[in-house]
Amino acid sequence: MTVVAVDGAAGSGKSSVSKGVARLLGMGYLDTGAMYRAMTLWMLEHGVDPMDTETITRWAGQPVIAPSTDPDRACISLNGRDVTRAIRAPEVTAAVSAVSAVPKVRATLVRLQRQTVADALAAGLGVIVEGRDIGTVVLPDADLKVFLVADPTVRAQRRAAEDLARGVTTDVSTTAAALAERDQADSTRVVSPLEQAPDAVVVDGTHDDLDSVIAIVADLVRGV
Ligand code: C5P
Repeated sequence: MTVVAVDGAAGSGKSSVSKGVARLLGMGYLDTGAMYRAMTLWMLEHGVDPMDTETITRWAGQPVIAPSTDPDRACISLNGRDVTRAIRAPEVTAAVSAVSAVPKVRATLVRLQRQTVADALAAGLGVIVEGRDIGTVVLPDADLKVFLVADPTVRAQRRAAEDLARGVTTDVSTTAAALAERDQADSTRVVSPLEQAPDAVVVDGTHDDLDSVIAIVADLVRGV
């Protein structure tokens, strides 16, 4: 059963590519960013300041986060409530890097991520896990590690188009600045920063459309 780690910066296409490959190859799909977003949503809903590391550490074990591994129904619940849409709110996006830098948050969610992968494997499913630290920390023994990159302007254009599809209008330069800020925070944090694993295959999606990148990664998975 194949385990694939897909890491990359915000807007690099990780989710679309990972979901597409999982669908094509009949594998499970786990979006770890959605788990950090669900944790952040819980903190915001409980009035916790995203910079208040002490309170976040104390409460990190409270939220019950349950991600799906079905690429056709990629959803996530928080204490039994479907929060698939709510975790994409701008307030969550603005706070998620601070919350996910707290070591207790990472320890809690990494444990859940490993358990989710073990459950998928036990059910006879290979799985594609996407995030920032999957190849380096969460699944260092993954059968294949992919590090997705794309030019920052292209990433901002794609993310602005996705936002528009969700009914949120943003201009590309604002989106580019927000992505750069999040990448900076995610790459410079002390615990499990966004980092390319030394044994990862770098896939540059700057000049290819989604289907082409899916085909490239699917070929890599088939070659494992
Ligand atoms: O992938 P997405 O952009 O939804 O991730 C949201 C945030 O969750 C990231 O900006 C990062 O702060 C955090 N994250 C993380 N580790 C992961 C996945 C996401 O810290 N494995």
